[in-house]
Amino acid sequence: MNDANPKPEVAAPVQSNFVREIIREDLRTNKYNGRVWTRFPPEPNGYLHIGHAKAICLDFGLADEFRGGTNLRFDDTNPEKEETEYVESIQEDVRWLGFEWENLLYASDYFQQLYDWAVQLIKAGKAYVCDLSADEVRRYRGTLTEPGKESPYRNRTVEENLDLFARMKTGEFPDGARTLRAKIDMAAPNLNMRDPVMYRIVHAEHHRTGNKWCIYPMYDYAHGQSDSLEKITHSMCTLEFEDHRPLYNWYIQALGIFPSQQIEFDRLNLTYTLLSKRKLLQLVQEGRVRGWDDPRMPTLSGIRRRGYTPEALRNFVANIGVTKTNGTIELAMLEHFVREDLNRRAPRVMAVLKPLKVVIDNYPEGRTEEMDAVNNPEDAGAGTRKVPFGRVIYIEQDDFREDPPKGYFRLSPGKEVRLRYAYFITAKSVVKNSQGEIVEVHCTYDPATRGGNAPDGRKVKSTIHWVSADHAFDAEVRLYDNLFSKENPGDVPEGQDFTVNLNPNSLEIVTNAKLEPSLKTGTAGDRYQFERLGYFCVDPDSTPGKLVFNRTVALKDTWAKKQSGASGQLSARGKE
Ligand code: ATP
Ligand code: MG
Repeated sequence: MNDANPKPEVAAPVQSNFVREIIREDLRTNKYNGRVWTRFPPEPNGYLHIGHAKAICLDFGLADEFRGGTNLRFDDTNPEKEETEYVESIQEDVRWLGFEWENLLYASDYFQQLYDWAVQLIKAGKAYVCDLSADEVRRYRGTLTEPGKESPYRNRTVEENLDLFARMKTGEFPDGARTLRAKIDMAAPNLNMRDPVMYRIVHAEHHRTGNKWCIYPMYDYAHGQSDSLEKITHSMCTLEFEDHRPLYNWYIQALGIFPSQQIEFDRLNLTYTLLSKRKLLQLVQEGRVRGWDDPRMPTLSGIRRRGYTPEALRNFVANIGVTKTNGTIELAMLEHFVREDLNRRAPRVMAVLKPLKVVIDNYPEGRTEEMDAVNNPEDAGAGTRKVPFGRVIYIEQDDFREDPPKGYFRLSPGKEVRLRYAYFITAKSVVKNSQGEIVEVHCTYDPATRGGNAPDGRKVKSTIHWVSADHAFDAEVRLYDNLFSKENPGDVPEGQDFTVNLNPNSLEIVTNAKLEPSLKTGTAGDRYQFERLGYFCVDPDSTPGKLVFNRTVALKDTWAKKQSGASGQLSARGKE
């Protein structure tokens, strides 16, 4: 069991990390008899996001690597915010990322056991029923510099505590009237150890236990014991729980149960992105986005719809590493991994987003040719396809300038360019509408350049994409930009909330893009590279008569550029 051969389907780790080293050491010392068992414990109060992907890759990835297993456990101790919809989406997202759990579990399945353990702690004089209100508990708690004050109810007898706790359970008291607290130390330097609340009264229906319970365990009381019950060896969570670890260990020791160990790692933060279910829920509820799976959302369902691949996400997570200090990763780095993966797998096609009509005056009217186009230069097995060519084509408006600025090598009057997979053309004249806008460009072509090369060896400086006007079809294309315009969306002026940082231009809808006919058969989820433009995928909003595409990511890779340029903070991170 001590070897570390990854299962073949698991991507090789790019670099080691301190969590893996802890596991190796535990295996060396035989701390858990060679077992490695982890859990991923989402609260079903929202959809998973890219930050969760990091935790999932760590929990499942390390367990796979050491031939252990991982439980998917819903941390459903908070009846008011949890829903079955979230339970289902979370399972779908974990599977999409490429992982499979050994056991599907719910913290709510442990409610009886947790209750029995609470009774055990009361009997041992380690827990008491407290009548202070939530506000009073807070005030008695003290501060980082001052010790707390003991609750006047702290020294109730065991009998009185047992009686009151039982009556809390049977529903005799209203919400918030009493709590059960651990009796630890009101002067402890760590505030979490100052008689933390174990149970609160909430008369609310639970998504699984219905109305059976009206007292619910706090996260800190439920989490370690759930880990222990499942014999979790390495319980990874984010750094904000570091201060909770002494309490995690206190409960386990006080109960004398299996000693799971909590290990904290850095939370993923991304520029231009908010990773918080609560805030993402607000965006959904206020209608700022079209739902949890809006392609601008950092949720796994959103980026899946946008066209990101699980492979890209796993590579990204492997490259950002795992540390003990929180930082912020550039969104550009995530996009880099998306491009890198799509570059390998996405077939190339031609599409014109902002069409400009081009008439090739010396090309025979009514004639159509089938040009051979390469499907994927990265994949010889992907083959070629035929793309129809004719006298009238569309090119991008951006690919023509009547008065070209210096250094502009695309089409302009008198200039010759190559049409991808077709001919050289030279612009001769333009037709304008009454507003003076160019609506048509007239060109000539050189029949000797079929396939893209001139027999006389003359060169052109630019190759542009096109579609045949007679054969292209119209589609809607949704172009996305960052959801937030600020690098740190949480940086908000006094008195306002993060929605002020929403980017008003995060979605641009192009309704009359012109696509090459081979795309007509696309179905939801299909991914393509639109040559020179970016990666796109078919959106589920598509109908047989009208396809809708999402731009997954544009082609320009600012992160790769930074990497190859001068050093800088990021170069210490990823690998190119
Ligand atoms: P949020 O703040 O978005 O609600 P959370 O931490 O409350 O996140 P949970 O459902 O409790 O969400 O998280 C399940 C697991 O995912 C936890 O172990 C948590 O530490 C981890 N996790 C959540 N957000 C991140 C993140 N940004 N980076 C890494 N791990 C994360
Ligand atoms: Mg949480």
